[in-house]
Parts: sequence; C-alpha cells; structure tokens
Amino acid sequence: MARIYNFSAGPAVLPVAALQEAQADLVEYQGSGMSILEMSHRGKEYEAVHNEAVENIRKLLNLPENYAVLFMTGGATAQFALIPMNLRGEGQIADYINTGAWASKAIKEAKLLGQVNIVANTEHECPTRMPDASTLKFTPGAAYTHITSNETIAGTQWRSFPRPESPLVADMSSDILSRPMDVTQFGLIYAGAQKNLGPAGVTLVIIRKDLVERASGKCPMIFRYKTHMEENSLHNTPPCFSIYMLALCTRWLLNLGGVDAIAKINREKAEKLYAAIDASSFYKGAAVKEFRSDMNVTFRLPTEAQEELFVKEASTQKLKGLKGHRSVGGIRASIYNAFPAAGVDALIAFMKDFEKRNG
Ligand code: PMP
Repeated sequence: MARIYNFSAGPAVLPVAALQEAQADLVEYQGSGMSILEMSHRGKEYEAVHNEAVENIRKLLNLPENYAVLFMTGGATAQFALIPMNLRGEGQIADYINTGAWASKAIKEAKLLGQVNIVANTEHECPTRMPDASTLKFTPGAAYTHITSNETIAGTQWRSFPRPESPLVADMSSDILSRPMDVTQFGLIYAGAQKNLGPAGVTLVIIRKDLVERASGKCPMIFRYKTHMEENSLHNTPPCFSIYMLALCTRWLLNLGGVDAIAKINREKAEKLYAAIDASSFYKGAAVKEFRSDMNVTFRLPTEAQEELFVKEASTQKLKGLKGHRSVGGIRASIYNAFPAAGVDALIAFMKDFEKRNG
C-alpha cells in the first residue's frame, strides 16, 4: 500500500482501519444484499448505524442526558447562519470573539440577521493569537457568546475557554474529540466532520436541550434544531454514508481508548513538531506559543520562494498538503487525530535536511 502522509487541513486523513472496514462492506453490507449507499434511511440496518454514531459521540464526550446529538448538513458554514436564527431573539445581541478567518465568517453571517457585539478581535494580529480570556467584557443579557475553539488557518487554539454568563457556542470543526473538555461549559458545539470525525457531508451539532425552544415560529422547520432533535436527525434523508463513516471513525477512537488517549498522542505529535521549529532559526512558528494549536501547526520560512520549494520538495517525499491557506501563505501541517506519529517524524527529518541544504 502506497499511502502518503496527508497533512491536508480538511477533508483530511482518516483512520486506515475505518477505510478498510468501509471497503469490505461497500458492495454488500453485512448480509443485507446491498450497499450501505443504497439502502433506506428508515430501514433497520441503517438505523443501527445511525444510532451507533450518536452513541459513540455520547460516550466519547461523556454527554449528560440534557444534551442532544444532531447530524446536519450544510457544513459548519450553515451553522454560522442557523445559530443566530435559532438562538438569538428579536432585538437581542449576540457576543462574538473574532480570532481569525473562521470566526470572522461566522460573524459576517450573524450580522446579516441581527445585532452582534465583538467582544475581542485578534483577527489581524501577527503572530496569531487568541485573546486573553480574563479581560473579556461580555454584553449583559446577550443571547449567546460565540467562539472558534481552533482557528484552522491561523493555527491557534483556546487552551481554556472563556466563561460568559450567556450560553457559550463553539465552532469545534478542527479540534472536536482531540482533547478532553467539560461539555457542560457549552450551550452548543458544532463541527464539520471532515477533519476529526469522518468524511465531508455531515455536521455534528451538540446542543443543550432547553436551547432548542428559543427558535421563533417563523424559523422554517428544516432550519430548527428542535425539528432535528425531535426526529433523531431523520426529519429528511440524512447524509447516510458520511454518518456511517463517522460511526466507524468514532468506533476506532473508542477502541484506541477515547479522547484522553488520543489527546496524549496529539500532544506528543504537536510538541515534537513545535520543538523542531523552535530548535531552528530557519523556521519560525506563526502563532504565539501559549495559543499554538495541536491540530494545525503553522510556520514560516525566511522567504516565500523557500516556502514554495519546501512544499514542492516535500510532496516528492510523500509529505503532501503542507501549503498554508492561500489567504496567509506559509506552511501548515494539519495533524488531526488520525494523522500517524510516524508522519510527524518524517516531516521533522525532511525539515532538518531542507534547512541543511537551504539555511
Ligand atoms: N470552521 C472552521 C474552524 C473550519 O476549519 C472550517 C473549514 N475548514 C469551517 C468552519 C467551514 O466548514 P465547512 O466547509 O464544513 O462549512
């Protein structure tokens, strides 16, 4: 098998065990005489897969009964609009923390529909960073406070979360299930699947059940969290295959020991890579140290020409997807849950060799 080391920011590398299981089941799913891609979402085979996916998420996050797990579509981007539509009442203000490109997109959408207060803004800071959580001043009576737990492009991550009075809403697209956390700090968590959960096509939403009551009667049924909660995410045809893959990927994570086990592995991978960056005067980390992301490691080389050469040469050595986001340039190594530790070692070896030849 000639698999490369895939540093792509998303869709991203998946556990090989999950891919192989899907391959084995693809043409005929467990004696059903058909593929999982072909069967009714109301049939008993799919129902078991769907419910396993929900249960795996509940187990991995240790979810209390008063939280619901929803599978939705439209990516995290659809949630940028659905959150204000569902959680912000007429005339109410929603607090947002602008930490970079993704938070900024969520803010733009929320502004289209009503009032937003920007509690802090680090979007254009260089090196990239999160704000100091202890200095934040929230709006009294705000509908909710929105954060982006990991900025995929900037390579920054909240280490401890702000504690506003209003329900905390977090875009965890790029770090869900990568580290332990107390879900009860949040009113709503959402994540596109294509980094840490499975393939693209499904969006995970975890919502405190009382919050689904906030949507006004004018909100279309399909856009209400309440609809999806009451119908176990089967109001309309769900992205069955993506949910099936999510079930396999979360099963893989449970077998590995769950979130605590993967967090340790993630920490080790990231620490090794940051140590290699810090040990060199050629490479320079893009983020302030205390906010560095364990998922997206961003760094620069002395010149853009060298960065271009770095990406080009790396790709000939099976190290692919290292080009930074087009809006910021530089190098980005995305090392999500399923990214193997050996790939980090291979990248570090390549970095040392590249520096010797070009430094
Ligand atoms: N939020 C974050 C933090 C992301 O990294 C991304 C995708 N890279 C998105 C939102 C948008 O996700 P989607 O393309 O699934 O809508």
